[in-house]
Amino acid sequence: MNLFKRIYCRSFQFVMKVAIPFLPYRIPKILNQLEEILPLLKSKKITRICIITDQGIQKNHLLDSFLNVLDENNMEYYIYDKTIPNPTIEQVEEARELYLQNQCQGIVAVGGGSPMDLAKAMGARIVRPKKSVQKMKGLLHIRKKLPLLIAVPTTAGTGSETTLASVIVDSSTHHKYPINDFSLIPHYAVLDYRLTLTLPAQITSTTGMDALTHAVEAFIGKSRTPQTKRMSIEAVRLIHKHLKNCYDNPQSAEDRRGMLYAAHYAGIAFTKSYVGYIHAIAHSLGGQYHIPHGLANAIILPIFLEEYGHKIYKRLSILAKICGIAEERDSKEVAAKKFIAWIYEMNAYMNIPNKVSGIREEDIEKMAQYANQEGNPLYPVPILMDKKQLKKMYYKVME
Ligand SMILES: [Zn+2]
Repeated sequence: MNLFKRIYCRSFQFVMKVAIPFLPYRIPKILNQLEEILPLLKSKKITRICIITDQGIQKNHLLDSFLNVLDENNMEYYIYDKTIPNPTIEQVEEARELYLQNQCQGIVAVGGGSPMDLAKAMGARIVRPKKSVQKMKGLLHIRKKLPLLIAVPTTAGTGSETTLASVIVDSSTHHKYPINDFSLIPHYAVLDYRLTLTLPAQITSTTGMDALTHAVEAFIGKSRTPQTKRMSIEAVRLIHKHLKNCYDNPQSAEDRRGMLYAAHYAGIAFTKSYVGYIHAIAHSLGGQYHIPHGLANAIILPIFLEEYGHKIYKRLSILAKICGIAEERDSKEVAAKKFIAWIYEMNAYMNIPNKVSGIREEDIEKMAQYANQEGNPLYPVPILMDKKQLKKMYYKVME
């Protein structure tokens, strides 16, 4: 990246970092069981809600007992369950129709990242009826309070229940982009580990690695705060302790709970301290080929950490030593390399490939452009890269 652009990016990031204490960040209030939603709704005099979810949740009957409770208490609910991975603008509009037609008063989003992305964008469209989703792309284009939004994660990964981002795909251009606004932060997060007990191994692994990517990208970036530093460290520690166990023993309550909290803490960390190019590239791959977000991140994460090299040895060594991956007497370099080796080991153990398959050379130019647009100047990454340098990274991660 040329000097002028570097100065521009770093100045922008510096201003954003200085602004952190003055910005209206919120942390959602935590509920530990799905059933706690009912008294909450009653206390807010809400009688009609819109539930945003997907077919997988419905097929696994994860909501059945909760819906019974709602029925017994005469709570009216309208379910939008057509959310697909990488939700589109059309879906946001479809769900919004359902909400408005039935005069709903609040939103409950149940699922992995996608139903929450969709629910946030829908909430934004409800309070900003004249602004299209396309016009909300980027930072702070909503600036209006959303209806009550309760986020119920069923995977331990996205951290979407804490974040101010909603990632939407424009299906006409395959462009996948985030909408960021403080008003998108859910008001409540339900961390109910019972909902994650039936997750297939492959989802457990890739979403867990997504959470790891959030914690690590926030930790190695230049916009850490003491709070996000703590949150990242705690998230990485919990992932090191619980992810492999969740993969091996899906029914383990303690490990499932540990991973839900890990993903939540990682979400709080990157909400203030941002992610980085790993996410920018993963988003472009999701938009172009529907490659699952966590899978893309899991593969790209160690490759990027190697690329950043000595710039991040110190920080990775801290994570490695806290988790017990490295020993106290190890040098920063040795400890950092052990941390990266641990990520490769975790991927291999959980059957995550080393490279991303299906990337077509002719698409790289466009994807690198999207990644460049997303990452620069916003992401406070350890080493800045322009479009040309990002293009090279696609060649490094592709099969
Ligand atoms: Zn992510």
